Amino acid sequence: MTLNLTEETVPEGYERLVFAEDTESGLQAFICVHSTTLGPAAGGCRMWDYATLDEARRDVLRLAQGMTCKNAMADLALGGGKSVIVGNARTDKSPALLRAFGRAVQSLNGSYYTAEDVGISPEDMKIVAEETPYAVGLEGGDYGTGDPSPFTAQGVFQCLQVGAEVVFGTRDLTGRRVLVQGLGHVGMSLAEKLHSVGADLIVADINDAALQHAKAAFGATICDTTQVFETEMDIFAPCALGGVLTNATVEKLIAKLVCGAANNQLETPEVADALRAKGIRYLPDYVVNAGGIISVAGEIHKAGTRYRTERLDGVAGRIRTLLELSDKTGRTTTAVADDMVAEILAKASDAKRGAA
Ligand code: NAD
Repeated sequence: MTLNLTEETVPEGYERLVFAEDTESGLQAFICVHSTTLGPAAGGCRMWDYATLDEARRDVLRLAQGMTCKNAMADLALGGGKSVIVGNARTDKSPALLRAFGRAVQSLNGSYYTAEDVGISPEDMKIVAEETPYAVGLEGGDYGTGDPSPFTAQGVFQCLQVGAEVVFGTRDLTGRRVLVQGLGHVGMSLAEKLHSVGADLIVADINDAALQHAKAAFGATICDTTQVFETEMDIFAPCALGGVLTNATVEKLIAKLVCGAANNQLETPEVADALRAKGIRYLPDYVVNAGGIISVAGEIHKAGTRYRTERLDGVAGRIRTLLELSDKTGRTTTAVADDMVAEILAKASDAKRGAA
């Protein structure tokens, strides 16, 4: 065994950051546990061609913190964590690398559960699971919940309908121009749902095969990835990577509503103010995209698919509450959501201290 684990110093507010390196398979990965206040940390594993280890470290820290917010808002007994594997998912992935990653996850002894994210498929997770029971989003078995992506897409779709009702006065999406950026596991499933209710789809991706599929199957109009913010639309659904909403892109964005699956869509928290000032309703990513983690939570808690059946509709319900509170208080939806998360975590910490 050549797996080497290094405990790194964490920023304030974080619990753990582990760097895992395996010379034999070429694995380089970070696993971050942001918070276990509500339960064991849970969050997907991303494989991405980061230019530097620093870039990967920054990403895992941001994503893990986002998972704490997501899991708290989704009312799950799970904390926040995330992992990233450094490398090209198309060319650098191998069973040996995934197994080495599985051993790294196992070394955290259940304080972190991993699942699929960008660049990692349910088939990959099956290989990771050969080394650890803390890999979820698996098919079959007594409690397997499978690929979380369709449930993420379902939650996003339902939130988009609630947002449309508030912004346009009707949840009917017939003829509404929706731009889906990123046609991966979640984006394609969302595009399919939007097409089925008559939305006018515009799609952008770096993957031509995905674009051609959306064009043929849903009559989607293809938009060059560089032209997203030059395109007129009613609703923007970011379903690729984070950081797409910046002060500069918001200045150009021609939409009334933003609702998509991508994590960390806002480059900085202040971008929420820029969106609000422009009259664009932003539905916070970590609230909207919780369907997938709700699905895998059923596996973690050994409740199976029944768990998500009972909870998935709650995602859109929370968005409605957030929009109402935002209107009532004149604050951004993100500020309202962040306060709700802080309150949930403070209550749980108090309860823990009381019990100790
Ligand atoms: P994926 O890897 O299956 O899809 C990502 C897609 O984005 C790919 O088709 C890729 O080609 C495309 N893409 C990459 N760069 C792009 C660019 N510059 N412009 C346009 N498209 C680009 O990933 P996914 O599982 O569908 O996840 C999408 C997003 O949703 C990610 O941010 C992920 O973290 C988030 N998310 C996913 C889930 C889930 O259940 N899979 C849950 C919560 C959040």
